[in-house]
Amino acid sequence: MKKKQKQKFFQAPKGMRDILPEDQPYWDKFLKNAEELARDYGFSKIETPILEDAELFARGTGETSDVVTKQMYSFKTLAGRTLALRPEGTPGVVRAYLENGLSNLPSPLKFFYSGPMFRYEQPQQGRTRQFWQFGLETIGDKEAVLDVQIIQLCLRILKGAGLKKIDVQINSLGCSHCRSGFRRALMDYYRHRKNKICPDCQKRLKENPLRLLDCKEEKCQPVKSQAPSSLEYLCAECKAHFKSVLEFLDELEIPYFLNKNLVRGLDYYTKTIFEFWLEGENSENPLALGGGGRYDNLIQNLGGKSTPAVGASLGADRVVLAMKKEEVKASSGYNPKVFLVQLGDRGKKKSLKLFEALHQADIVAAESFSRDSIKAQLKIADRLGVKFALILGQQEALDGTIIVRDMAAGSQEIVPQEKIVEEMKKRLKR
Ligand code: AMP
Repeated sequence: MKKKQKQKFFQAPKGMRDILPEDQPYWDKFLKNAEELARDYGFSKIETPILEDAELFARGTGETSDVVTKQMYSFKTLAGRTLALRPEGTPGVVRAYLENGLSNLPSPLKFFYSGPMFRYEQPQQGRTRQFWQFGLETIGDKEAVLDVQIIQLCLRILKGAGLKKIDVQINSLGCSHCRSGFRRALMDYYRHRKNKICPDCQKRLKENPLRLLDCKEEKCQPVKSQAPSSLEYLCAECKAHFKSVLEFLDELEIPYFLNKNLVRGLDYYTKTIFEFWLEGENSENPLALGGGGRYDNLIQNLGGKSTPAVGASLGADRVVLAMKKEEVKASSGYNPKVFLVQLGDRGKKKSLKLFEALHQADIVAAESFSRDSIKAQLKIADRLGVKFALILGQQEALDGTIIVRDMAAGSQEIVPQEKIVEEMKKRLKR
């Protein structure tokens, strides 16, 4: 006899996961507050498609970045175009800015976005293949004060999520001019120490030398610690810009760590770059909550006029992990004031109507229509901490009355049904 095979459940794709209702209060606390603060700081919401031309990321994020070379989900459409699931938000925002003629509006323009990003990474704690970013972009101004405004806003958002202990890590990569001097120095330095670095670094030396400073291999640490710093190669203008950034941070009393090994993974950064780490994060392998920097050349590289810009993004998944680690309280926002207890067909029918009437009067009512026992329903009412239970049985349905039970006092009163909404309004106000 053929053995009946047990049917397997489907599973979410590797590295992708469900955000279940129990976790939503954390997400809401972070994202709602982030949106509110961003609007308060003069940022407007922008939404761009999750799919873009793959070339946009190659030209934007960078042909040598890991994000594009190793981690991008790209595919051919039936029409033969190569599209990619966005691995990050900035190139899409810049494309929208150019495509929609937003560059003709008075600058700077300030945008925020919120949505899922996709990178084909090795999944681990805090690193998934689909993750959520909340991002900010200020386009059209080169002033250092705007770099600091973004840092300040990110910190406020993280604090609003209940994360008080955040370290700001900061560095400057300079403009393309200083960067090429720094690159050369870095390559020279590493070429002389080729036999002391890991195979990955040997590759980075050829393909993307800045990423040498990102290496986490133990073998490479002694070489890395003595490597040249980008700060030594800044031209006068970039030096002045960075000095100004640090002075603004001092003025705001925002502490920071100058981190000469901070390079960030995306190719477009110029001048200031920064990351936000949970205080005490292991600097050898930090899981940044977010990061960003200036990208003064990106808009031109994507076909626009030379336009300076600065941005940042915060990773919601990691922020939520940190909120849980720090035992931040997040409530579901569900806070019913009354509970409808119903009994029998007639009671149920009347209750459904009353439920709607209460909600229209802005009184959040809870119910358990699928339960029939009064005891079970009162138990739920008690657990929800409502002030009143409104009991509608067969008799009350016929009489046109309702029993109002004060949950704290345990006292009960009979009230005519047509007066109950007004009565509740009055009693809840008290
Ligand atoms: P990046 O664009 O790489 O600087 O990423 C900005 C932020 O997005 C990071 O600091 C993380 O919080 C988040 N992030 C990036 N990649 C992932 C990932 N694979 N899984 C979860 N969060 C991520």
